[in-house]
Amino acid sequence: MLRGKSEDEIALIRESSLLVGKTLAEVASLIKPGVTPLELDKRAFEFISDHKAIPGFLNFNGFPNSLCISRNEAVVHGIPDNKPLIDGDILSVDCGVLMNGFYGDSAYTFAVGEVSEEVQRLLDTTKRSLYKGIEQAIAGNRVGDIGSAVQEEAESAGFGVVRELVGHGLGRKLHEPPEVPNFGKRGRGTKLIDGLVIAIEPMINLGKKDVTQLRDGWTIVTADRKPSAHFEHTLVVRKGKAEVLSTFEYIEEKLNVIV
Ligand code: MG
Ligand code: MG
Repeated sequence: MLRGKSEDEIALIRESSLLVGKTLAEVASLIKPGVTPLELDKRAFEFISDHKAIPGFLNFNGFPNSLCISRNEAVVHGIPDNKPLIDGDILSVDCGVLMNGFYGDSAYTFAVGEVSEEVQRLLDTTKRSLYKGIEQAIAGNRVGDIGSAVQEEAESAGFGVVRELVGHGLGRKLHEPPEVPNFGKRGRGTKLIDGLVIAIEPMINLGKKDVTQLRDGWTIVTADRKPSAHFEHTLVVRKGKAEVLSTFEYIEEKLNVIV
């Protein structure tokens, strides 16, 4: 049985989610050619610790770092390494924090310097597909309404939708029921209830939808090794309109993105 969170619980998840947004903005301000993913990870660890919170991914199922950093053909779960970023890379940065007993979870894909028009279209489409999904996250709808909205937005742009990894409920645990796929059929799946807190996180590939895992036991890459993007928000299902608890506002201030 799914349970909606209380307003007190939602308030704490909102705080954790805001800290994730601020951490990603801190990371955003450092991203440029020459910087290494490990440097970004170190800064995120310090920033989260300075705010008396715990990096949500560090040691989660044995993950070795605070951020998942997935470059170019890496979809998600990339382990930060010491290879300097180069102009034209894209970098998906996924961040979770645990504060006051509750998680927040959000991800953003950054362009390093100048990226090709095609890759920029992938980034824009993936972010737009996230918001299409969020529009469907209202009480009385079903999980399939979210998935089909994301899928339609991505596939109509000619991109591949990853099937193997999905969004999720969250709260006292990083991953709670229900699973929230980025594909599906309208009107199908688990019914969404008022107060349900979920993360929606489209993983969209420039090429085909298929993925594979590297031998490091973590990194998911596209099977065709073409780039992949990932955007994620934590939000609460409400009647009429979802309330997004995480934010890209701080990130996009740093990036001077006009939204
Ligand atoms: Mg995440
Ligand atoms: Mg997540």
